[in-house]
Amino acid sequence: MPSCDIAIVGGGLVGATLALALSRSELADKWRIVLLDAGPAKIDAELTHWDSRVVALSQRSIALLDRLGIWSELNRFADYQAMRVWDEDGTGSLEFSAGQIGESRLGAIVENSVLLAAVNRKLSCVSNIEQRRGLKLEHLDRSPNQPFARLQLSDASSLEAGLVVGADGALSRLRSLAGFEMREWDYGHSAIVCTVETQLSHQHCCWQRFSEDGPLAFLPLDSSDGRHRSAIVWSQQHTKAQQLMALNESQFSSALESSIEKRLGELISCGERQLIALRQRSVKHYWQQGCVLIGDAAHTIHPLAGQGVNLGFYDVEVLAAELQRAASRDLPACETATLRRFARQRQPHNLAVMAMMEAFKRAFGSADPAVRLLRNRALSAVNNQVLLKQIFALAAAG
Ligand SMILES: Cc1cc2nc3c(=O)[nH]c(=O)nc-3n(C[C@H](O)[C@H](O)[C@H](O)COP(=O)(O)OP(=O)(O)OC[C@H]3O[C@@H](n4cnc5c(N)ncnc54)[C@H](O)[C@@H]3O)c2cc1C
Repeated sequence: MPSCDIAIVGGGLVGATLALALSRSELADKWRIVLLDAGPAKIDAELTHWDSRVVALSQRSIALLDRLGIWSELNRFADYQAMRVWDEDGTGSLEFSAGQIGESRLGAIVENSVLLAAVNRKLSCVSNIEQRRGLKLEHLDRSPNQPFARLQLSDASSLEAGLVVGADGALSRLRSLAGFEMREWDYGHSAIVCTVETQLSHQHCCWQRFSEDGPLAFLPLDSSDGRHRSAIVWSQQHTKAQQLMALNESQFSSALESSIEKRLGELISCGERQLIALRQRSVKHYWQQGCVLIGDAAHTIHPLAGQGVNLGFYDVEVLAAELQRAASRDLPACETATLRRFARQRQPHNLAVMAMMEAFKRAFGSADPAVRLLRNRALSAVNNQVLLKQIFALAAAG
């Protein structure tokens, strides 16, 4: 018998949310579940500081977080009610809003550290999930005649698990130890992220300008203190991104101000910048015997449509439901049919979103005048069609 039924490797946004989702169903009383994470569990977000890493959560993700009691724990976020997307030529643009689908918001922008602290606060009140923090998965032993995997941890201890869930992020150790085959490619882009303060209000709108070099997004942050803050995600070709990182604050502010065409007025300040190399990754199969991958460990995508963690949360929803289904039928957690059902529901959706993002990135990154003309005509055509705009708004809301 393994020492636990389910070991979740990785307590980031996706793994910790899965642990919480499982803790709320009867299966947690039946099965022993362990959450393993390399870092400490932070339960306080430093609100004096603005985290430059943010996520745009869809309404579907918000509904999941609400059901798990996480949403009411958040101590800072901003709704976004509209999106404005335009092209550097000024010939193609698209605007849609929550009002077009009868909603009050399309989603919300939350700092990663604020969201993770809220998930961890909820998890700290849970007694049916064992949390092992500050420990890394180092090795994995599996043998075909053993119905469990042995996880070797960084403190030289080990853990045996019937099912190992890999939620250990884009550079997943579990993925490589278990030998999951993966397609991976460089987008040729790095993203500069930072928090900025602008002269004008963001109007609870996500502003996104596409140029040949890459997209620039201004995402609205909480402005209850009367200051207009946004988080920026500026994707640029690697060398251009390095050059922008090398600028001093005032040079960088001018470059950013002109790139967003001063739509939010002057830039009052720019916080510390972080540079993140962007790569697309997708495992060929989401599961193997006794092992399944979710979140960035299974799929990493370009942040231009802000979908990465949303796809991870949808994985959580489906995997938790399938495990619950197995438990209610007295099946073991590692039951093949459960993992297959999970993958069948999630993989086609994740691949479709990834393909759409790739198409967007290529269409907007092309210098070919014919592609630009076609793309801008398509954008303007969508912008003139109420129904198509509603479809875009529904997709953004999840
Ligand atoms: C610039 C940028 C902007 C983005 N914007 C958005 C957005 O607007 N909307 C959106 O939905 N998504 C966005 N994303 C994507 C989103 O940030 C990720 O999809 C999400 O954070 C992935 O969460 P995760 O829990 O799968 O992985 P991670 O957050 O990477 O968590 C992995 C966890 O595993 C642990 N771990 C790692 N290795 C081990 C090990 N060997 N043993 C034990 N534990 C281990 C780590 O400590 C960590 O806690 C963006 C990404 C980038 C780069």
